[in-house]
Amino acid sequence: MNNILTFDSIGDDLLKEPSHKVSGKVKMDPPMRVRCAICRNRIAKSDARMSVSGKHEASFTNPFGFRFRIAFFQQAPGCKLTGKPTVENSWFSGYAWQIALCALCRTHLGWGFQSNDDNPFFGLIIKRLSDI
Ligand SMILES: [Zn+2]
Repeated sequence: MNNILTFDSIGDDLLKEPSHKVSGKVKMDPPMRVRCAICRNRIAKSDARMSVSGKHEASFTNPFGFRFRIAFFQQAPGCKLTGKPTVENSWFSGYAWQIALCALCRTHLGWGFQSNDDNPFFGLIIKRLSDI
């Protein structure tokens, strides 16, 4: 009888537990995803991280003097790009940038970069992400 009760309660826990929590019991949607620090929206797969000019992360200062530490991602499906692509003040020569917002809460998470010759990528502000 005790065994049956224990079994039932474990079953309930499994149902309630979000699949992203790797507790050792279930891993329903590996790989883990990098999330928006504000609303927890899933932003990118951890394994989408990439290096640009040999670096996985870099610090940049924008024309207003704000300094950002960013990490690079091949894709960031949880972001929404906004604004017209521009090469003005671009941190990467030959790349146009757009602002990348969290698609859910619209927090500014970083930038999307694209060029005619290479694959596009994202530079996302590490402080505004969680589970990175
Ligand atoms: Zn968000």
